[in-house]
Amino acid sequence: MVAKYNPREIEKKWQQRWADDRLYEVSEDDPRPKWYALTMFPYTSGDLHIGHWYAMAPSDVHARFKRMQGYNVLHPMGFDAFGLPAENAAISRGIHPFTWTMQNIDNMRRQLRSMGAIYDWSREVVTCLPGYYKWTQWFFLKLYEAGLAYRGKAPVNWCPHCQTVLANEQVVEGGFCERCGAAVIRRDLEQWFFRITKYADELMEHNGIDWPERIKIMQRNWVGKSAGTEISFTLEHPGVDEKEIRVFTTRPDTIFGVTFMVLAPEHPLVAKLTSPDKKAEVEEYIARSRRQTEIERLSTEKEKDGVFIGAYVVNRLNGEKVPIWIADYVLMSYGTGAVMAVPAHDDRDFAFAQKYNLPIRVVIAPPQWQGEELEAAYIEPGVMVNSGQFDGLPSQQGIEAVSDFLEEKGWGKRTITYRLRDWLISRQRYWGAPIPMIYCPSCGIVPVPEEDLPVLLPEDAEFKPTGESPLKYCEQFVNTTCPRCSAPARRETDTMDTFMCSSWYFLRYASPDSSTAPFDADKVRYWMPVDLYTGGAEHAVMHLLYARFFIKALRDMGLVDFDEPFTHLFNQGVIIAEKQKMSKSRDNVITPDEYVSELGVDTVRAYLMFVAPWEQGGEWDDSGISGVSRWLNRVWNVVLEEYSQRAEAVAEDRAGDAKAVRDLQRITHQTMRKVTEDIERLRFNTMIAALMEFTNYLSRVKEAGNVGDADWRRSIDALLLLLAPAAPHLAEELWQRTGHGYSIHNQSWPVWDKELAKDEEVTLVVQVNGKLRDRIPVSVAITEAEARQIALERQRVKAYLEGKEITNIIYVPGRLINLVAK
Ligand SMILES: [Zn+2]
Ligand SMILES: [Zn+2]
Repeated sequence: MVAKYNPREIEKKWQQRWADDRLYEVSEDDPRPKWYALTMFPYTSGDLHIGHWYAMAPSDVHARFKRMQGYNVLHPMGFDAFGLPAENAAISRGIHPFTWTMQNIDNMRRQLRSMGAIYDWSREVVTCLPGYYKWTQWFFLKLYEAGLAYRGKAPVNWCPHCQTVLANEQVVEGGFCERCGAAVIRRDLEQWFFRITKYADELMEHNGIDWPERIKIMQRNWVGKSAGTEISFTLEHPGVDEKEIRVFTTRPDTIFGVTFMVLAPEHPLVAKLTSPDKKAEVEEYIARSRRQTEIERLSTEKEKDGVFIGAYVVNRLNGEKVPIWIADYVLMSYGTGAVMAVPAHDDRDFAFAQKYNLPIRVVIAPPQWQGEELEAAYIEPGVMVNSGQFDGLPSQQGIEAVSDFLEEKGWGKRTITYRLRDWLISRQRYWGAPIPMIYCPSCGIVPVPEEDLPVLLPEDAEFKPTGESPLKYCEQFVNTTCPRCSAPARRETDTMDTFMCSSWYFLRYASPDSSTAPFDADKVRYWMPVDLYTGGAEHAVMHLLYARFFIKALRDMGLVDFDEPFTHLFNQGVIIAEKQKMSKSRDNVITPDEYVSELGVDTVRAYLMFVAPWEQGGEWDDSGISGVSRWLNRVWNVVLEEYSQRAEAVAEDRAGDAKAVRDLQRITHQTMRKVTEDIERLRFNTMIAALMEFTNYLSRVKEAGNVGDADWRRSIDALLLLLAPAAPHLAEELWQRTGHGYSIHNQSWPVWDKELAKDEEVTLVVQVNGKLRDRIPVSVAITEAEARQIALERQRVKAYLEGKEITNIIYVPGRLINLVAK
């Protein structure tokens, strides 16, 4: 009898040993090729739940596999520690955010260590510590020097519950705060922005990187590039300096169909142009639209309404007076904040014109159009009509001809617009990296000198949200002297969006202790870019876009020499419980700790890989994990129970039963091939299934006792090596117990032999109406469907079937197929 598999005991023992030996610490001074495997670092919200493990355990398996394949693998871990959720949680518990966050980190680090991953803990990064955020502030200064950080007044998304502004990316569909779910409103505030729009074109391209198509599409849509023409309408209004209003359109071929113009309610000309009799109505409308979110304003479900402001522009192409309206579906932050309305050829304008009884003039003829009124907008291309000298041109040519004409006259120009806005990074909250800027009454905005970094977040500030930054009320923090003229000055009191902290953490892992620079340039050159980045798809237009912008900006400053931070991206699916995403409020959170103490880490790891294809995710199921636990127990027993060759088998053939040996070799090498290919493609569920099948096969061989000791041992070694990434503790223990040295994790990954992995061949006999017509060499594993197909495709067989119809097929597996035909 062998000892029972006791995961708790062996897992603790090996984790201690690996830590003591610093088995997984890596250095840049290493002859092996580098591999940088990165998992998105967790937010310090509290406990790790099984969803975190689902992100982390499979990526650890892949990193371990690369390590055994001979790479110098950096697989670091850290904590995204600043930001609203931690601050809100701390406030609701009445503790300081720093205390709350650091407690969470201690607990999460303990849980992560229990996973048995190859994280190099000597490189841990925590973004809320001064040694880190000093450099976040330094990057802010660099972006400011490069003209990529600026201060400006802008309508911003304001969450009344979180009492802070949000980036566009943090407002979820329907106009709600991504963090707390409150409805977001608009406010005008002086804010700090990063000029991400400068990189709009480059962010649309994903050259040389292997990313999921849907993430690339989401990013391209988010940037939202569109080419069109800006057209100037004449403004002649007594007492108003502006002599034109410009609009952007992708359809200049419809210019003769303009029957009104619409301005965004917050357009600066509205107040100047509104006639006295319309003033009250216009102001009421503006106040109402301010209470709405951008997304509500753009919603296709909402009926479009607006107000005529009592003023006109002139369409220069036909000299017509065009009435000016305001409507909240036009946004000041997109294009010019003004649109030309062509109701005959735009759905939204059509509905608006019908509602307010505005003229609808057809200028693009639909097919077979006889001059009748339209029932709905005709938005397709067509032939220009009612358009003066442009009549008869098809839309595409018309677009070019009208644009040429406008450019000649100086009434317009071709241009490109983007949906992407600059990245708003100011937050009126306590728990973030202070923005390192000073306001001097005489010098204006002055950056904090580099040598004065970090600007420390004061510990004793009253951090409860009030709508303004809590740092405003912290006298010692606010009051400073101007670095230029030494006069009394005030510090910027806003803190930075936490996405700024996560835009460069992957660089810090290369040299986490660097105190003279954010990173050691040589070490970053060695490790970057990240070879495989894994994490959730929800970061598509936030972290993953910001980090790309950040790297492109650093490249242009000469700080890094690559274009993209993440060469290969993979998004795992979500693990759910009771048919729902895990959440504390639903009380369906699966915590790994209890399963680890009951069944062991290796079982939890293997189960997470087995539960579903990684990119799809699946449902946690207690009976499923029991099955995986039973499998690992079987592995334990099949490896440790004594193997003995049966006497009859020895008598027949000293090396064992020759066929049994060949079969064992073939199955072993086929498993090596399958497991290798599956890990390479991150198909962990089928990898585990292959290992389970292999275990079953080995059990049968053991029972039969028909191979020699040496053959048996070779296959057991292969099983353990293939199992090492998924169940690292069990594999280490069994490796040692079967007489090998420490550590299995320093062994080379097994390489299959093509010849040995080849399926055994048999001869398939093909009959037509019971007469032998062909013999075909086929794999022993051939299925009936494959056998039929191969037989029917043979020329010799076809000849005998000519003009006949097959009425029946008789198949003897792996031996014979008889085609009955009339
Ligand atoms: Zn909120
Ligand atoms: Zn000054």
